[in-house]
Amino acid sequence: MDCPVIKVAKFGGSSVADAQQFRKVKAIVEADPARQFVVVSASGRRYSGDSKVTDLLYLVNAHVNYHVSCDSLLDSIGERFFSIAADLKLSYPIGQRFAEFVRAVKAREYSPEFVVSRGEYFTAQLMAEYLGYTFVDAVDVVAFHQDGTLDLDRTNEQLQQVMQEVSGPFVMPGFYGATRDGRVRLLDRGGGDISGSILARCLGADLYENWTDVSGFLSADPRIVDNPQPIARITYDELRELSYMGASVLHEEAIFPVREAGIPLVIKNTNAPGDPGTVISEHAKSGDSEPIITGVTGRCGFTAIHIARDRSTGKIGFMRKALSVFERYHVSVEHMPTGVDSFAAVVQTADVKDTIYSIIADIKAEAQPAEIKVVENLAMIATVGRNLRGRAGVSGHLFGMLGNVGVSVRMITQGCDEINILIGVEEKDFERAVRAIYDAFSDHGRIVETSELEPMPQRF
Ligand code: ASP
Repeated sequence: MDCPVIKVAKFGGSSVADAQQFRKVKAIVEADPARQFVVVSASGRRYSGDSKVTDLLYLVNAHVNYHVSCDSLLDSIGERFFSIAADLKLSYPIGQRFAEFVRAVKAREYSPEFVVSRGEYFTAQLMAEYLGYTFVDAVDVVAFHQDGTLDLDRTNEQLQQVMQEVSGPFVMPGFYGATRDGRVRLLDRGGGDISGSILARCLGADLYENWTDVSGFLSADPRIVDNPQPIARITYDELRELSYMGASVLHEEAIFPVREAGIPLVIKNTNAPGDPGTVISEHAKSGDSEPIITGVTGRCGFTAIHIARDRSTGKIGFMRKALSVFERYHVSVEHMPTGVDSFAAVVQTADVKDTIYSIIADIKAEAQPAEIKVVENLAMIATVGRNLRGRAGVSGHLFGMLGNVGVSVRMITQGCDEINILIGVEEKDFERAVRAIYDAFSDHGRIVETSELEPMPQRF
């Protein structure tokens, strides 16, 4: 007998922003009986310029802390929940529960984390009733160690217990959990994605669906490239490379729990559920024709510190001495192109804004280099694709295109796994370079597929 398919569906703040969005969620959940386990964020923005309930709750804490009245903030939070409940004719006593919450907030009976967690708590209560699913509180499932890190073993145990008691579909609020002594702890901002991922992992789900307000990832920033192609499939490694460079749809930490368990994750759009979205998995299908590149992305705001060795001194230990200075200043070295007698430490400009002169002085004193040169205003651009691996001519083609549009490449590195060609250009050339790279791999805006390359190897 086939085991039933299990899907965990996590809906982000914009997907639960008002009654209209709740209706869309219900239609999505009811369209697939496998969607038995639902995680929700707190009600988010309804329109641009609107506030997220979580942001308002952080403000409530700040007001309480400074003994400033937070009545109007609490009113607008309450209003969000009341209008959803009224519009959907829900019987959950939100008026009464919210009034009790307001009283206790003003009496300072709650911890700041508890206050913030009520955004997801009330949203999940309303959603559970609306879907006809059981409400399961995240404090009874998601476990934290006392130091604030997640306790996956205890989460697993608690979930098994809850599953025995509930034995059916449920809705769980994202973003929070509790320590053993019952204290509410929060995940990072955007951490509802992590809650969904943990739940999918502990349930041994077949798929983790992350429902948001975009139809997955695009292969380039639409503000730079016109109509970039959506990414149908991406591996976890590629996603890591792309999101490190700026593409952000999903909380970065959310991939680890499902990845370790080999559970694929799909990004879907609550407002366009028919769109295929982006599937993220350990391995993309091999054998099929696929786009030659998965995406091109990047950002400005990098500084390169070029450090040249004095040839009269020994090679051994030179890099370590220089790099330990960055470590001491808590500056992360993001990339490190090397030459025979020199290397560059590429850092985020914001990270060295106040310390660059001290860092240089310390490197001079400790590593005694022949020369140090600082190059500012750099942009780094990553061209990412599992299909770049082992394919001759790809980088030649990329650099040829950059040459054609007159962009000078200041720096080149490639990850050992060959899924990423990383280049540094001057910030002024950033957008032109991204467009040129996209064009290099596309034909009338559509990214060229691997099967199209075989008959014309001269092209790449
Ligand atoms: N509500 C939280 C936030 O705004 C968590 C989440 O939405 O995932 O960060």
